[in-house]
Amino acid sequence: MSDCIFCKIVDGSIPSKKVYEDEKILAFYDLEPQAPVHVLVIPKEHICCADAVNEGNVGNIAHIFTKIPEITKSLGLTNGYRIVNNCGEDGCQSVKHMHFHILGGKKLNGTMA
Ligand code: 5GP
Repeated sequence: MSDCIFCKIVDGSIPSKKVYEDEKILAFYDLEPQAPVHVLVIPKEHICCADAVNEGNVGNIAHIFTKIPEITKSLGLTNGYRIVNNCGEDGCQSVKHMHFHILGGKKLNGTMA
């Protein structure tokens, strides 16, 4: 999508600090980290949010989860981490390209909402 920030990160027109990339997904550091380690993992395909996942595109999301162990190990997150996906207005999703926050590098608090 031409006006999507994360599509622009995928095509390189907006720079990012990449952590992992393959043909389906990209992981890069969040611009405004909320934890000592804060990385975003996205499908390269523009999927707006969890509400838009279907049988046709779920392979890209599944691929993210098969790579998260490798990505988190490379980040040194050997003692655990948190995965967050915000969806829609009430979920406070600010970038409408589905992404998973990986947060870690310290003992996170137990608050979920
Ligand atoms: P959301 O609130 O949609 O779940 O999370 C969007 C995340 O994207 C935020 O944590 C925000 O800091 C991050 N972000 C927004 N724009 C950029 C950008 O241009 N580059 C990077 N690396 N992160 C961004």
